[in-house]
Amino acid sequence: MQPDQEYSIYDHWYDNKLILKSPVKEYAMPNSVLIINCGSSSIKFALLLKDQNFRIHGLAENLGTPNARIKGVTLGNEPVDIHIPNADHKEALEVGLSRLANHKPDAIGHRIVHGGTLTQAELITEDIIDIIRDATPLAPLHNPAHLVGIEATRRLFPDLPQVAVFDTAFHQTMPAHAYRYAVPKFLYTEHNVRRYGFHGTSHAYVSERGSELAGSYKQGGWLTAHLGNGSSTCAIWNGQSVDTSMGLTPLEGLVMGTRSGDVDPRLHSFLAKNLGWDIYKIDKMLNSQSGLLGLSDLSNDMRTLIEASEQGNEDAALAIEVFCYRLAKSLSALSCGLPRLDGLFFTGGIGENSAFIREKTMSYLPHFGFNFSKEKNDNLKRGTEGRIDAGTGPQIWVVPTDEEGRIAQETSNVVARGVENSTTKKPEAATV
Ligand code: AMP
Repeated sequence: MQPDQEYSIYDHWYDNKLILKSPVKEYAMPNSVLIINCGSSSIKFALLLKDQNFRIHGLAENLGTPNARIKGVTLGNEPVDIHIPNADHKEALEVGLSRLANHKPDAIGHRIVHGGTLTQAELITEDIIDIIRDATPLAPLHNPAHLVGIEATRRLFPDLPQVAVFDTAFHQTMPAHAYRYAVPKFLYTEHNVRRYGFHGTSHAYVSERGSELAGSYKQGGWLTAHLGNGSSTCAIWNGQSVDTSMGLTPLEGLVMGTRSGDVDPRLHSFLAKNLGWDIYKIDKMLNSQSGLLGLSDLSNDMRTLIEASEQGNEDAALAIEVFCYRLAKSLSALSCGLPRLDGLFFTGGIGENSAFIREKTMSYLPHFGFNFSKEKNDNLKRGTEGRIDAGTGPQIWVVPTDEEGRIAQETSNVVARGVENSTTKKPEAATV
């Protein structure tokens, strides 16, 4: 196995069986939800307070190293930078959350990349933990880190409801003809090899919000383009995902910051035979040295590439062109999953902020009757919602994503579901 930090957490998890066992309890409805997004050496956290409608954010990074630190902003907008040398996930959460003395969470929502075939967010129980663990071979970089985060928050807040919100769940409505690969059937039936899709929280939020803005809440056929360091597209019919660009793993599909997206599957054997590369080297190349970074040989950051191309860097210009062309190609392909196309939503750091990338992408999509408005696109203030078509044909909108808000909402819904269930069960219990 590769000497990789991601894998060492995985080993740690299996060796030490860290998760605490606790029975399912009844919980009150949450007013404040702590969102945890745990990576292998980092934790993004946010506290969302329902009534006061504000959020507190923090980032713990370089965990397990001498450079471990927490960065964030206080409620008074003062920057916070706390050094916590060699701190692990639990210590980082303890330090980070001790700063929120007046704002304790009522519930915790964990962003979980892979939930196997689970179709919705779930209260975290031993069974759900087993499912997250079982999905580890499908998300080896993410799920073990999420489990470490769950273990840490369960130790810190043993009495709070904790909810797992899965990136994959929204796409579980895909039909078999969209999620099956054309490989031998036993790989699906015995080894779960199929397309799952990711970024579900974002596609769900953006398609719901976008269709609401368009006056047809959760109705009709829509395409979403989530364009950030990781990028994916999705086709949504009447509020349900019918196809998406990512597959078994988040590597399939679009060109991303450092990920290649689709390549000829035979590239692997080509590199093995001709360059003597092993599977780890190929995996690393496709995941962290490819995409915009690989094409440009300069950066994975779209802003840097746009600036470089404006200054005449041809590799940067080509990387941008490939990104937009492949994006348009993916949107065209996904439109096959829709009985009718009502419109397209752009989101993610690139989709929300770059009028240039949106325009270039639309230049490759002349087929569907889109009537793109350059003027509206150029005038849309960065990071705001707005319509960028000329008023005829399928609509085009920019809809800033809100994954945190969606996770908080789903967490509240799951806790409410638990409260309702327990309330409806009470009279029965009383008659016993
Ligand atoms: P995300 O992963 O959603 O945070 O998005 C990160 C990506 O958005 C990076 O490639 C950034 O360069 C890109 N981005 C952010 N702002 C802009 C902008 N104004 N123009 C182009 N790309 C941007």
